[in-house]
Amino acid sequence: MKQIKGYAAQQATTPLTPFNFERRAPRPNDVMIDILYCGVCHSDLHTARNEWKNTIYPVVPGHEIVGKVLQIGSEVKEFKVGDVVAVGCMVDSCGSCASCAENLEQYCEAQAVFTYNGKDKYDQSITYGGYSTQIVVDQKFVLHIPKEYTEKDYPAVAPLLCAGITTYSPLHHWKVGKGSTVGVVGIGGLGHLAIKIARAMGARVVVFTTSQGKIEDAKKLGAHEVVISNKAEEMLAHNKSLDFIIDTVAAPHNLDPFLQLLKRDGTLCLIGVPASSHPSPSVANLIFGRRQIGGSLIGGIKETQEMLDFCGKHHILADIELIPMQKINEAYERMLKSDVKYRFVIDIGSLK
Ligand SMILES: [Zn+2]
Ligand SMILES: [Zn+2]
Repeated sequence: MKQIKGYAAQQATTPLTPFNFERRAPRPNDVMIDILYCGVCHSDLHTARNEWKNTIYPVVPGHEIVGKVLQIGSEVKEFKVGDVVAVGCMVDSCGSCASCAENLEQYCEAQAVFTYNGKDKYDQSITYGGYSTQIVVDQKFVLHIPKEYTEKDYPAVAPLLCAGITTYSPLHHWKVGKGSTVGVVGIGGLGHLAIKIARAMGARVVVFTTSQGKIEDAKKLGAHEVVISNKAEEMLAHNKSLDFIIDTVAAPHNLDPFLQLLKRDGTLCLIGVPASSHPSPSVANLIFGRRQIGGSLIGGIKETQEMLDFCGKHHILADIELIPMQKINEAYERMLKSDVKYRFVIDIGSLK
């Protein structure tokens, strides 16, 4: 057992505060990681405030982790001390169900063990995330940082572990590439990476925003075109022109104006979970065009490594604001106002 420094929420209504706890000594398949950076995801805030009604307190959030290997278990072959590695949203899964057998641990029928607010398979302890100085993770759930990234890139690599894979996986699954026209709805932590990744995949990228002020930002991120989505005539001009739309907006909204933009057989993929459902879309928009609405959850470990390698090759990084751990509560308030371009990342050095 090792004493670790972290930050935790003790209950839904109080700010995060310093919290000391223990990590297990590495088991034979474990990698002990000294955490360098951890991204701040909206899920962290939802969980800290019990907005999904499943939080076990105290909770140490954080699932966009980049760090250095400190120690390895006797069976660890893939990693050595000093390697720069990453951990995302999951730290374990059953390993034997149909989804795990297809490298889709995020859909594990027994439920994956999430990086925080999850339950360890062996000792039933509650998992604590990356708002902490160290973490111990089974080697199967540890990822390699591609060699193309240097030390100065590491803070901006961290958000790839959740925001990056959440957008890469559906773009990859629905075979976006050269010749595709892709819509991205919303320019936040998820949307800004969707734009960069879709562009690197070779697609034509059309970004939808309600804010005139974001047009230049979207173009800088790689959008070929930006559409103000509450202007009906602008939307109409793109009727039946998109192969695929990735909708990152978690607030309930009308999906029909977007469905109408899809070509025949096009898919609208939702990746934000709204607190209450979107208004029901018109079935006619699905039938007349054989269109589909889909959803997608993060990505499996194999695909997460592919995503990192792809982003390394194309030198894709998140646009971030680096903060010390002590500023986390302020960051949450600013995140709620979308006052960040586009992801906060915690410098875990500030905890040490
Ligand atoms: Zn996340
Ligand atoms: Zn499974």
